[in-house]
Amino acid sequence: MIRLDRFNIPIPRAALGPILLAVFIVLLITLRTPPPRPIIAPPSAVTWNHPIELPVDPDAARQPPPPITGQFVQRSNLDIISAEGLFSPADQAILATELEQALNYTTGRFGSGPNDRVSAYVGLEPGCGLHGIAYTEQRTVQVFTCADLPRYRTVTIMAHEFVHQLAHDRYGPAHLQADMILLEGLATWGAGSYWLGGQPDFATFVREYKANGSLLPLATSYVGRSISDMNRLYYQWGSFVEFLIVTYGREAFDALYVTGNRAPGSANYAGVYGKSLTDLEQEWLAWLD
Ligand SMILES: [Zn+2]
Repeated sequence: MIRLDRFNIPIPRAALGPILLAVFIVLLITLRTPPPRPIIAPPSAVTWNHPIELPVDPDAARQPPPPITGQFVQRSNLDIISAEGLFSPADQAILATELEQALNYTTGRFGSGPNDRVSAYVGLEPGCGLHGIAYTEQRTVQVFTCADLPRYRTVTIMAHEFVHQLAHDRYGPAHLQADMILLEGLATWGAGSYWLGGQPDFATFVREYKANGSLLPLATSYVGRSISDMNRLYYQWGSFVEFLIVTYGREAFDALYVTGNRAPGSANYAGVYGKSLTDLEQEWLAWLD
């Protein structure tokens, strides 16, 4: 007689064989059944709370874009092409409507429209590293995504790229030399609700950075920075652009926009506003509160 000590149950020796066999079968089934696969969102969806562009070589945006093929849909001001297999035909039609709405929304917010048709290309990024680029001289804006990322993420990045195109159409080739603060700040501010995630304005985000001590100086280049720093800079710059337009008007802002040489802080702030960037930055920080 063997006792299972924990339960103090007597087990006849003759029953031991069948019990061990049953245990063996249960173990075999358990080991052979794969555990349920955890549902893991793509890393990009977890890491990025807000839409963001990946840093791109500014000169790359001046090269002719690589040839693009895929499903083609036309809307009033837009030619939309998406990589084969990325969207079903039904989703492609919805995407086209959403992109048309995004272009109309950003046009209204920005204050002037595109000078001509714009090509919007949605390409496949197998690693799901969502990013966008604007070839504004070629009137082509591109977003790279994957089938695992929701369609709205494509639209949010594209809204930002549309504003780069609108800026080129408003300011001409000087746009390509714009101060990084203004270049990305304007595209971020112009994308408005697409980048606000339900918050009322960009100042709300910046107040949070201020409160947790993560605010960066405005004249910080995103080159070589982490994604989260870059994200923070874009929202700070978006808020700073909003501050400049609200406080000093659009005409002064337009005059400022065409004076930079790409480097962050390179625009002629003193010439346009009679104040240095440092002084304007302090004013902006006080304005936030
Ligand atoms: Zn941008």
